[in-house]
Amino acid sequence: MDLNNYSALELGQLIREKKISVKETLEAAFARIDTCEEEYNSLITVCRESAYEQAVKIQEMIDNNQALSPIAGVPITIKDNICMRGTQTTAGSRILQGYISPYDATVVSRLKAAGAIIIGKTNMDEFAMGSTTESSYYGITRNALDAEYVPGGSSGGSAVSVKLGECLMSVGGDTGGSIRLPAAWNGLVGIKPTYGSVSRYGLITYGTSLDQMGPITKTVEDCAIYLAIMAGWDEKDSTSISREMYTRAYKVNDIEAFNDNDRHKSTWNSENEKCSYVKTRINNTAKENYRYMTSSLGNSIKGLRIAVIKEIMDMIGSDPIARMMKESIRQLESEGAVVEEISLPLTPYTIPVYSVIANCEASSNLARYDGVKYGYRSKDYDNLTEMYENTRREGFGPVVRGRIELGLGALSEEYYNDVYLQATKVRQLIKQEYLQALQKFDIIMAPTAIRNAPKIGEWVKDPSITGDIDIATLGPSLSGLPAINIPYGKDANGIPTGLQLSANYFREDLLFQVGKTLQDSM
Ligand code: GLN
Repeated sequence: MDLNNYSALELGQLIREKKISVKETLEAAFARIDTCEEEYNSLITVCRESAYEQAVKIQEMIDNNQALSPIAGVPITIKDNICMRGTQTTAGSRILQGYISPYDATVVSRLKAAGAIIIGKTNMDEFAMGSTTESSYYGITRNALDAEYVPGGSSGGSAVSVKLGECLMSVGGDTGGSIRLPAAWNGLVGIKPTYGSVSRYGLITYGTSLDQMGPITKTVEDCAIYLAIMAGWDEKDSTSISREMYTRAYKVNDIEAFNDNDRHKSTWNSENEKCSYVKTRINNTAKENYRYMTSSLGNSIKGLRIAVIKEIMDMIGSDPIARMMKESIRQLESEGAVVEEISLPLTPYTIPVYSVIANCEASSNLARYDGVKYGYRSKDYDNLTEMYENTRREGFGPVVRGRIELGLGALSEEYYNDVYLQATKVRQLIKQEYLQALQKFDIIMAPTAIRNAPKIGEWVKDPSITGDIDIATLGPSLSGLPAINIPYGKDANGIPTGLQLSANYFREDLLFQVGKTLQDSM
């Protein structure tokens, strides 16, 4: 059996129909891991034992015809900055080496409740800072289509593990493009959902106001089912918001949702009862999400208005990417969509604004790694200050140290007003520009990356080229808008390229609708 032959939904169906056992799927996944890992290095930790244990329980439920979800029994991986109880979580950093998470992130609980089997934790740029997955303490990850090229980053290990057929979905994390870029360069679908829709509880933070997790999959349909499972309001994340809460015009004190939760809490008689209540609740939310997100899947896109960003089109650095844009636009028009080029003049500012905000937030978030509470501690110190200093000097890599310094500088008394505060103001203007465009258009489209995937080591030698690679992904990130990568075309070296579609808050349904139209046209 070869996982490369199935989508997650297809495999899920075979498992439900008892044509394939959960154990068989795991054997296929681990066989692939054994063959590929030495060369591609997509995983930091392989969770063999816990996966087989979980498989027994899930098979039992399937045998008893207990409905879990359409993807029950399907093997998945998660990025190594997402906490899973009892397993190491490193965020690609030496400073977290040996840190065993004592709890599950909310996305992990939700996926487990739906019967997903987590088989590994994926490699990533250290603390998600990067675009190539070359800055991990645990070695580089290679592109699944050609091992000489980078996979994109920072969720490079996630994309590669799916593309290699080690699993059928991977949860990535995206601050400024880290799901969409590796999805693009590995020919996969990857979504950064509306900010707040997926709980960040249990995600190791990089930039608090930007981070979101989302699925990387082979198809649009798989992407929708996994996002439906992952999304939902969570009391453990203060920035969490559900679609219902949002659509009730920001009435965030959504009495019903809060009370409902509390009311049931007091009636749990045992831990078991609580677990089964939580499971039912999660699965009901997932069902509702799925119904909404796929409500227009397969519908005609006739009359939909799609904007292409002129400033990004002008920056395209290679013929295959220009061709991909032309062909996809022609395709969308032939399906009846109205495509127009628009100007978003603040686009060039997304890079410095993102860099200030992400680094400032990171410098504060990463202050907790001091050698006392988590993971690594230097052996070389005579007093407490030296222990802090040496632990952080030895534990963080050069990229992370550099970004912490930039962030601390921008937050210092001298620069706070002129740099940090200014960046937060320009961020609001960028957001307004996007929201204004979305009053006229349903979708804003751009190439996910304006340049080809480089060879391994190419950008490390000349870091100046990496500067604008995130130009298309940063606008939606700074605005909290959902954005998806849809694979489309290949570059001159045979590495896939991708299109980014973004839409208004909680309009993932539109992203899936247009994404599927493009997917079906290939
Ligand atoms: N490449 C960007 C950065 O290094 C985005 C990374 C991300 O989304 N985590 O900050």
